[in-house]
Amino acid sequence: ACSKGNGYSMLYHSDIRAEEILNINMLRHLKSALALNEFFLVFQPIVNLTTRNITGAECLIRWRNAELGMVGPDHFIPLAEDTGFIVPLGAWVLDNACMQLSEKLSSGEWPSDFKLHVNISLVQLMQQDFSHSLFATLTRHNIAPHNISIEITETSMMKETEILMETISTIRRGGVSVAIDDFGSGFSSLSYLHKLEFDTLKIDKDFVSDVLTDSRNESIVSAVIRLSHGFNVPLVAEGVETAEVADKLQAMGCQKAQGYYFARPMPLSEWPDIEKV
Ligand code: C2E
Ligand code: CA
Ligand code: CA
Ligand code: CA
Repeated sequence: ACSKGNGYSMLYHSDIRAEEILNINMLRHLKSALALNEFFLVFQPIVNLTTRNITGAECLIRWRNAELGMVGPDHFIPLAEDTGFIVPLGAWVLDNACMQLSEKLSSGEWPSDFKLHVNISLVQLMQQDFSHSLFATLTRHNIAPHNISIEITETSMMKETEILMETISTIRRGGVSVAIDDFGSGFSSLSYLHKLEFDTLKIDKDFVSDVLTDSRNESIVSAVIRLSHGFNVPLVAEGVETAEVADKLQAMGCQKAQGYYFARPMPLSEWPDIEKV
């Protein structure tokens, strides 16, 4: 990528890290991926730990590119956020999620109180017309607001601003739930929790996965469970991979869970034809 005969340019280019070159290549593909229909959504069941009923699902984006192959969201979402591409991409996710939700609800395959969780980036949430376009999307697909929960990461919640608080308040007044995602991984003080409106807490898989073997993590999970009881909101434990962890969390009083033990994220065509997993 070096131009010839220009010493300055050579120096400049050799300073670019390999990662950035990869990013530039990825960004080029990313920008055309919407038009090329390269994105699709997978859905992972969220389970009530007491009844083991499926109460909802989290929808997760996938990207399959001809040259790059499958690219995980952990790789391209940050790039999409940095470049603003997350705004049209996030709108596509919401629209597509609502379209598929609407089919499952109207066919009766999913109960009328089913909650679909959709991840929303801070960049997307901070758009001035976010709540307006959210409700417009629901209306377009004839979806009741109680069928949707938006997941916002704890770290993005900490960058609290007036606009963010107002948006969250508008969203909740309209009947859409708000879940705090990756709770516990933001190393935050708890001080913001009392001003923040939310309906669900989700505890990160890093704490959940070794709740049986790491007594410090057990203490953290136990504290978050008590916190959720105090706030009177359900807690979803992420990353449950074994029966033992599921049973332990249930015994500790955690209401809901999600993880490979119950089901992997899957396209809706593979969604189990059952209520329990
Ligand atoms: P997240 O929101 O914390 O999503 C949970 C991640 O844990 C997902 O990774 C899921 O596939 C994975 N997971 C579920 N069960 C298990 C388990 O039992 N064990 C393990 N080890 N992992 C499990 P995924 O799909 O790769 O997504 C990664 C992150 O990318 C998400 O983390 C979320 O922050 C972001 N993301 C995904 N889809 C979207 C989207 O549509 N919009 C936005 N803004 N972000 C998204
Ligand atoms: Ca999430
Ligand atoms: Ca999470
Ligand atoms: Ca995460």
